[in-house]
Amino acid sequence: MEIHSLAPIGSNPHEYDPLPMDVQKTTDADAVFYNGLNLEAGNSWFEKLMDTAGKSGDEAPVFALSKGVEPMFLTTEGKEGEEDPHAWLDVQNGIKYAENARDAFVKIDPEHAAEYEENAEVYISELEALHEDAIDRYSEIPEDKRILVTSEGAFKYFSKAYDFQAEYIWEINQENQGTPKQITRVLDIIEKQNIEGLFLETSIDPRSMEMVSRETGVEIKGKVFTDSIGKPGEDGDTYIKMMEWNIDTILNGLTN
Ligand SMILES: [Zn+2]
Repeated sequence: MEIHSLAPIGSNPHEYDPLPMDVQKTTDADAVFYNGLNLEAGNSWFEKLMDTAGKSGDEAPVFALSKGVEPMFLTTEGKEGEEDPHAWLDVQNGIKYAENARDAFVKIDPEHAAEYEENAEVYISELEALHEDAIDRYSEIPEDKRILVTSEGAFKYFSKAYDFQAEYIWEINQENQGTPKQITRVLDIIEKQNIEGLFLETSIDPRSMEMVSRETGVEIKGKVFTDSIGKPGEDGDTYIKMMEWNIDTILNGLTN
C-alpha cells in the first residue's frame, strides 16, 4: 500500500491548506481516511478537498476513523456543543479506529478480507495491552498530582479514560497562541492548585506555555504527542510509540 499523509506529520491538522499534490493524491486514492469529530473542520479544508478531488457523496471511499466513538464536547463559551476531536488519546478509541480501518479495507478490497482481519486482530491485541499498561503505569501517579496542564485542551477523552484532571490555555487548535484572557484564566487555575508540572505538545508553538511557566514558576516537564505522531525514525513515530512516549513523559513529569 502506498500511504500519503495530507496534513504533514508534525503539523496542525485542525487547519491545513492542501497543496496541488494533495489534490492529485486524493483524486487517485482508493481510500481516504480522516478523523472526523470536527478535527479537519477548522477552515473546512477537508470537505473542500474532497469536493475538489471528486471524493464527496455517500458512495465515495472516504472513511471516518472515529465512527462509533462516544463524542465529548467543547465547553468554551460560544463553542459548546461542538465535538472535541481528540478521541485517539484514549486507547480504547484507538481500538475503534483500527476496527474502522479494517472494515474499510475489507469493503474496498474484499478479496484480501482474511488478511485485513488477521492483521487487525494482532494490532488490536497490542492496543488492548497498551491500554492496560497505561492504566497500570498512570496509577503510580498520586491522586493529588493527576493534573495535566497543556497548551491545547486535547486531553478530555484521555482524562476520562485514565482519571486525570485536564487543564489548558486554549481548548482547541483553531488558535495557536493564548490570548491574555486565556493566559490569565490558566494562571488562576495553577495558582489555586498544587500543579507538579506543565507540558508542551510536539505540534504546537511553545511560547504561550513558556510564558505560563515563567509567570508561575512551575516547570515544563516535557513534550507530549497530541495532534501528530513523530516523524519517521524519530520518537513517537507510530500511534503505539507516541502513546508510550506520553505515558513515560507524563509519569516522569508528575512523579519526579
Ligand atoms: Zn488538537
